[in-house]
Amino acid sequence: MSEAASNPDRDVRAKGIDYITMSFLILTPVIGIVGTALYTWLHGFHLWMALLALGMYTAVGLSICAGYHRFFSHKSYEASAPLQLFFAFFGAMAAQNSILWWSSSHRNHHQYVDRDWDPYNIRRGFWWAHILWIFYRHDAPDAEANAPDLVRNPIVQWQKKWYRAILIAGGFGLPTLIGALFGDALAGLLWGGFLRLVVIHHTTFFVNSLAHYVGEPTYNAEVSARDNWGVALLTLGEGYHSFHHRFPADFRNGIRWYHWDPAKWFIATMRMLGLAGELRSATPPQIEQARMQAELRGLETKLAASQTELPDDVHRLIADARQHLDDALTLWRQHIEERARDASSAWRRKRAAAHQHMREARRRWRAARSMALTMG
Ligand SMILES: [Zn+2]
Ligand SMILES: [Zn+2]
Repeated sequence: MSEAASNPDRDVRAKGIDYITMSFLILTPVIGIVGTALYTWLHGFHLWMALLALGMYTAVGLSICAGYHRFFSHKSYEASAPLQLFFAFFGAMAAQNSILWWSSSHRNHHQYVDRDWDPYNIRRGFWWAHILWIFYRHDAPDAEANAPDLVRNPIVQWQKKWYRAILIAGGFGLPTLIGALFGDALAGLLWGGFLRLVVIHHTTFFVNSLAHYVGEPTYNAEVSARDNWGVALLTLGEGYHSFHHRFPADFRNGIRWYHWDPAKWFIATMRMLGLAGELRSATPPQIEQARMQAELRGLETKLAASQTELPDDVHRLIADARQHLDDALTLWRQHIEERARDASSAWRRKRAAAHQHMREARRRWRAARSMALTMG
């Protein structure tokens, strides 16, 4: 770790290109898009082909987002053994390496984001973060150091051992078999195998490229992660990435009910079925506080550039807003304790009071910001 911090000029390309991986990532879109289009044009389209691709896309995509990412990498909830097996099995079909490799690399991404030890560092450019980084040979990430919990997990170890077999038999064999049942094995392989894989690849890659490139740094102005609903639509909900980098242990990425986040809905459904539990989430006052801090940082940068001094009125409003947020945080903590004890219905009043303080904080903060912006 200390070596990583003291080695800002690490040459990530030193080990050269991995030609097998590179050919795979170039050939699969050719077969998946051009091949599938040509074959379907020549042999005809049937609804089962699209449904097969969509069904496999959903199972594999959710295994990456809700499984590899939100469960194995971030432990944002507890998953039962059958659910973990589901993630291990379908996740392998995404051809994105084993849970252990993926999650350990992803923990490095969060720890060293935007720096050289971030494997998909966006500062090296959009295409580097999207796909070029995968073209190079990498040492396996040090899972003993940053993922000892996964090293000890027998399902993770089982998946690591059988990863290639599951990828080939499940990712390509299974759709071929289903196609054969409908009378066209090759169409099954093309739609459910190759086309589905290309879509999964690039939707995952968008989280590393687009989600660090377009949108708003709502919760953390210091790092490149961005919130963007359009990216969320493309990535099964992973587009609220500024929130995710600020609160990685939250099982949600889109926190409002209307935020497109199928992975969050899937996890909530698994809880209803008794297959998941202990869903972790940041409290509303914590989220409001993070948002205000990020906006304040942005405002300070803007004002520093125009060399404007803030008048006392603005400072007072900001201090008031902070005070209300502190009060809201205290009340929310009490609300959680009281609800756990289930002593009375007092927790409802505490929650209402916390929300009231949050509204007051927001009102003062908005006034301070508009006052400061008219000056700057
Ligand atoms: Zn990220
Ligand atoms: Zn993450």
